[in-house]
Amino acid sequence: MAILYAAEAEEAAQWTDSLRALDQSLDIRFWPDWGDPATVDFVIVGGRSPGDLSIFPKLKAIQSTWAGVNHLLRSAGLPAGVPIARMVDRGLTGSMTEFVVYQVLDDWRRGPELRAAQKEARWLETLPRRAQDCRVGILGLGTLGIDIAIKLSALGFAVRGWSRSPKEAGSAITSFAGASALPDFLKDLDILVCLLPLTPETENILDARRFAHLPQGAVLVNVGRGAQLNEPDLIAALDSGRIRRAILDVFREEPLPESHPFWRHPHVTLTPHVAAITRAGTGADDILENYRRAMSGQPLLNQVDVTKGY
Ligand code: NAP
Repeated sequence: MAILYAAEAEEAAQWTDSLRALDQSLDIRFWPDWGDPATVDFVIVGGRSPGDLSIFPKLKAIQSTWAGVNHLLRSAGLPAGVPIARMVDRGLTGSMTEFVVYQVLDDWRRGPELRAAQKEARWLETLPRRAQDCRVGILGLGTLGIDIAIKLSALGFAVRGWSRSPKEAGSAITSFAGASALPDFLKDLDILVCLLPLTPETENILDARRFAHLPQGAVLVNVGRGAQLNEPDLIAALDSGRIRRAILDVFREEPLPESHPFWRHPHVTLTPHVAAITRAGTGADDILENYRRAMSGQPLLNQVDVTKGY
């Protein structure tokens, strides 16, 4: 009975130390030294596509240390029928909420303009804008989106969320559900935040057609996945002023090539996919719980619905 760590080597120590701190008896092996493939029951994978997992004949479950599993579901050698769990971790959720709340507050309180004015020693006396006057829309009202919605709403922002199924998220958060509700959701938003999983339905969802539903001068924050954004459409929307500013943490190609126009666009703020990461200290207990569940044939925590793709 062994756990195979098939994720990023540079993160191995923190995960295996945290797992062993919870249970010293765990037999944890490292790719590619798995020994007898028939003794591997549980595989931990990360942000890169793992190798061929179909070679483990008794594999009972695959655990991702990442919340998004789009790369895993597309990887070759993924054994059919083996349950997959994605990461839900309070450390990751907290980091993502801090990142988005910080970006929303910074933009709404005119952080970029004030910093630019200081560079020119210019006294830019602006009236502080009130949170209640800012309409924030969150695409994806799942684990991460709902936490952000609650925290922004507690600060007074007018928050709405869009998901596949309707949500009961409290009276202060308006729920929109399904493709037909998307135009109404986008209408009159000041700030649009994307926190959707990457699936065939959400690929290129941030495109000219959707931008046309936003009011002139809206702000886009993309912390979902890079392939959800049509990049030429965003450049055109920034140049026309339809989108006043884009804050991007995720990209089609990562690391973003040095020659990419986003690096130098005056209305793009970019961060190198650092909005949030899973923390072994807070994520290991759920992984151990899933290992135990897999060994006793119980359903996993945070099991991925492969038909939906998240
Ligand atoms: P989650 O709990 O699975 O939530 C996903 C949400 O998206 C759900 O509300 C779901 O609707 C909605 N959704 C999915 N497909 C949809 C569609 N076609 N139409 C409408 N709504 C749709 O996922 P999560 O944990 O919040 O994570 C979301 C994503 O954030 C991840 O998949 C990953 O790509 C990204 N992420 C980024 C970073 C970063 O550092 N930038 C870090 C972690 C995660 P239902 O609730 O109705 O199913």
